[in-house]
Amino acid sequence: MNFNNKIVVRFPPSPTGILHIGNVRALLFNYLYARKHGGDIVMRFEDTDRERSKKEYEISTLEILDELGLDFDRGPFRQSDRTEFYIEAIDTLIENGNAYEGEEAQDGSGDKVIRFKNPNKKIRFKDTVRGEIEIDTTSFGDFVIARSKTNPLYHLTVVVDDIDMGITDVIRGEDHITSTPRQILLIEALGGVIPRYTHLPLIVGADHKKLGKRHGAVTWREFKALGYLPEAVINYLALLGWNPGKGDEREIFSKKELIEEFSLKQVNNSPATFSYEKLDSINKAWMLKLDKETYFEKALDFVSKKNKYKFEDNLEKAHKIIFNIVQERLDKFSDINKMEDDGEFDYYFDIPNVSEKDFIFKDDGIEKAIELLSEEYKILEKIDESNWNKAFLKDALWNWTSEVGRGSALHPLRTILTGAKRSPDPFVVMDILGKKESLERISDKIS
Ligand code: GLU
Repeated sequence: MNFNNKIVVRFPPSPTGILHIGNVRALLFNYLYARKHGGDIVMRFEDTDRERSKKEYEISTLEILDELGLDFDRGPFRQSDRTEFYIEAIDTLIENGNAYEGEEAQDGSGDKVIRFKNPNKKIRFKDTVRGEIEIDTTSFGDFVIARSKTNPLYHLTVVVDDIDMGITDVIRGEDHITSTPRQILLIEALGGVIPRYTHLPLIVGADHKKLGKRHGAVTWREFKALGYLPEAVINYLALLGWNPGKGDEREIFSKKELIEEFSLKQVNNSPATFSYEKLDSINKAWMLKLDKETYFEKALDFVSKKNKYKFEDNLEKAHKIIFNIVQERLDKFSDINKMEDDGEFDYYFDIPNVSEKDFIFKDDGIEKAIELLSEEYKILEKIDESNWNKAFLKDALWNWTSEVGRGSALHPLRTILTGAKRSPDPFVVMDILGKKESLERISDKIS
């Protein structure tokens, strides 16, 4: 094999469903490898399963690749458009004695299946991740390569395409490792060049079982609907089976950095455990890189209708809520819905219902509570609107509260502002409510 040739890899999904995140990981490794080495990426749909392959899945696959920024250089091709090349290969194989017509197909068509004449030998290949692999192909028997002359099956179409498209590297999930010896036999019989093989470790859930729906989201669409960013998903998928090398503890990589750092040598062979927590922490890091306007818009996209109107009608308040309260708590945008469900935004928009017994601190009694609230009112009233922010408000009250007792002073204040057992501190709440609303809520309780 000529290693100086330009690298050519393939994106070969089967359009039989919404692209699984495990497939995206395989495509990503092809992508990073090709882009790092200035190679080409060929996109082709492997739709030999005619019943399960659907046009809508081709469309969604292309959308997903586009949204994740995984571009390709050639294609998309579709195997069902390339039948003539497979027929030609079948003819060649039959002519050369490497294939023959077998028994009648079971589909009732009267067609005869085409079987590969297995030379029954040992196939040896070097896998980038697993090293030398030797497999005795005898047990495969004369395997079927086409349902009929015009209806080729997976191994044949892959091999014909890989040869025609000049594929130098096959990088795919390790579930395909058993396909490799069959495909090598076919490549040899067709006189093609054997590509380099890299079989990527399986992605498993926390229970060590193959990642599936019961573990959580498994398609980009599901992750997107939960408010994960494409940069974060790409970043995290790259770390599933790859790492930048010893001593390099970095976890946050842009696509550009991944391309610079990527090497198939650093792909490991033990199963990669999908950790939603790790993805969350990487997603949060990427969320914090968004500019404020984008962050704000995305956060608003995720609040429910009811709150959306409230937020949109009070943009200044909404901004403060997002950047003072929400941002530090979100790992993904949909986390905002939990905050909503817990009523964490209600008191910024609606006056809370608070009874005396709720806001009295321990056994202070109502008189003391009202007296302290009146003091606070007097201090706050004097603060200029232009200084009405959490830092200034805290400065203005802090020393005084340590004299009179912080709990006695701040518990009633916080509670009449929010009506909640738990909430941000009263300085933040007053900052968000603004001077007028804050004072109104206090005066309502002391007069
Ligand atoms: N069409 C196969 C799949 O989607 C691709 C296998 C390969 O990479 O050769 O799993």
